[in-house]
Amino acid sequence: MRIFDPHIHMTSRTTDDYEAMYAAGVRAVVEPSFWLGQPRTSVDSFTDYFDALLGWEPYRAAQFGIQHRCTVALNPKEANDPRCTGVLDVLPRYLAKDRVVAVGEIGYDSMTPEEDEALARQLQLAVEHDLPVLVHTPHRDKAVGTRRTLDVVRESGIPPERVLVDHLNELTVAMVADSGCWMGFSIYPDTKMSEDRMVRILQEHGTERKLVNSAADWGRSDPLKTRKTANAMLAAGFDDDTVDQVMWRNPVAFYGQSGRLDLEDIKADDTALFEGNSIKRGGE
Ligand SMILES: [Zn+2]
Repeated sequence: MRIFDPHIHMTSRTTDDYEAMYAAGVRAVVEPSFWLGQPRTSVDSFTDYFDALLGWEPYRAAQFGIQHRCTVALNPKEANDPRCTGVLDVLPRYLAKDRVVAVGEIGYDSMTPEEDEALARQLQLAVEHDLPVLVHTPHRDKAVGTRRTLDVVRESGIPPERVLVDHLNELTVAMVADSGCWMGFSIYPDTKMSEDRMVRILQEHGTERKLVNSAADWGRSDPLKTRKTANAMLAAGFDDDTVDQVMWRNPVAFYGQSGRLDLEDIKADDTALFEGNSIKRGGE
């Protein structure tokens, strides 16, 4: 099985995670730039971070057999901090880089006027740079936030097939499906979405334009949730080809719209030793 995790923050993860992900079948990841927990106090902190996403992290990933790409943006939370908004002026320089496969993650956190401004401006940057966008939906007031996000996306004029709306659940999947945007689902250890709920969404709404990610970061999260969801799909009767569509071909198709995703060819039968929810290492 081959897996592409389309949303994971590897900067916050260990080399043990990279090893376990490889053993579980993960061969490619996209790391969106995001909020680091500790507030940044200057634009320079962003550029150092973007440079790490473009240089150091792909190097680290490659040591474990995993191909790494990123997305860059001013995240929704820091869009509210005047010390950070200057990053919008340096983004064009980063959006020109080969390893950047989308603008993201952008969107709403608290739905303030400052967030409106940053979202609209970055959707425009995506159009100008001919890149897809990764849009985060807020964890509070999710249905309201998602609806408003879709309105802003529509007004921006960006084609919906170039937009991935992430962190969806049972309440928001239908409105995003109707919009023509791609649908992302983040599977977490104990809150929000689980692998069983994900399987039910795929049964009810189909597998077209759907992406599954772990969104693993510095909080309690699990970088193997992609594989665990794939296992849950198989247990529920989905066949290997459908699992491959959701876990590999869909994210490749979405980020491939950047024109920059020339991954080394990975075959679906390049399988890893992984049974149930624990990793079996060779020789044991
Ligand atoms: Zn994220």
